[in-house]
Formats: sequence, structure tokens, C-alpha cells
Amino acid sequence: MTILYVIGRNLYVNLTNRCPCACTFCVRQDSDGVHGADNLWLDHEPSLEEILTEFEKHDLDSYASVVFCGYGEPLERLDVMIEVCEYIRSKSNIRIRLNTNGLADLIHGKETAPLLAGKIDEVSISLNAPNKQDYTNLVRPCFGEQAFPSLLKFASECKKYIGDVSFTVVDLLNREQRDACRKLAESMDIKLRVRPMI
Ligand code: SF4
Repeated sequence: MTILYVIGRNLYVNLTNRCPCACTFCVRQDSDGVHGADNLWLDHEPSLEEILTEFEKHDLDSYASVVFCGYGEPLERLDVMIEVCEYIRSKSNIRIRLNTNGLADLIHGKETAPLLAGKIDEVSISLNAPNKQDYTNLVRPCFGEQAFPSLLKFASECKKYIGDVSFTVVDLLNREQRDACRKLAESMDIKLRVRPMI
């Protein structure tokens, strides 16, 4: 079972396979791993103890950053993720990044960005589309049309509580959609990165 995996100079954390979305482009639909990482399907969700045991096998200072990502939405396990961040901080000043779908407020029924203040250094949020309709069609969140406005609110809260925030879109969007995403990101003073489909 793969809890931690290395891509380039970064140590990735695979906390869960749960996700409230069913993106049409999700890599999980037709592969078991990414970038040469082993099978990222978990046979059970690792306990905090199991996760920290894996961390003990790594010298954190030999990596550029720790990235919460994996084959699911890391913020499904918000409390565990926060405890892992605290462990990491007790060992190293390594940069901590979160890759998220930005729907944690709906998952937990409360504002979650304030809970991440001081725990992570950087958050990358999958924007994926410039408006509610395109987003709902592409990402197919279980929350329906509530999802997109909640994502935007989470992103602006992250600006306030974390500071370093970026949006990503996949490169399957057409030029018009990408331009609209760029405009939206600029209006929120958030960077936008176009990421290739794996
Ligand atoms: S949010 Fe990520 S993990 Fe979830 S379905 Fe979309 S691409 Fe897959």
C-alpha cells in the first residue's frame, strides 16, 4: 500500500481514495498510479500512526517539499492531515503544499481554510472551469451547483489565511475557457497554472 511516494524532488502523501467528485478527466478512471508511483489505491485508509511510521523512513530535509495529493481529496481527512503537518513541522522546515479540489467546506459543513493557517505553506486548487455550469459538467461534484461558489469562497479564504494560492486547469479546456479562467483568477489575485493531462 503506497502512503508516501516520490516524484522528482518532492515527497507526496496519499491519505485517502475518497473524493466527492467524478471528474471526466480523472486519472483514477484508467490507471492505478501516476508518474511511476506504485498503485495508489489504498486497501484501507492509513491511520495517523501508519502515516508517521512511513515518514520516519524519510529524511525530510532531502526533499524540496511535501505535497498532500494522492488518489483522492486530502481534505477528506482534514484532522489527520493537520496532525501530519504538525509532525512535519516538528521535524523540518520543508515546504508543505496541498493539492485540493477546494470543496472542503462542503465536505465538512464548515469553513476549513482558517484551520489550515500556519499548517501549510501553499495551496493549489483545481479550478477546472470558469463558471458553475462548465464546472459541474466537467467535475461532476456530488454537491451539484453549490460546489463552484464554495470553491471560490474557499480560495479567497486561503488567500487570507495561507497566502500562497494558485488555481489549476487541465489543458483540455479550449482557449475561450482558459481565457475566462485566467480572467477569474486575476480578479481574485490568484495565479493560474495550466497542467497537462497525465
Ligand atoms: S477531484 Fe481529483 S481525485 Fe477527485 S475525481 Fe477529480 S481529478 Fe479525480
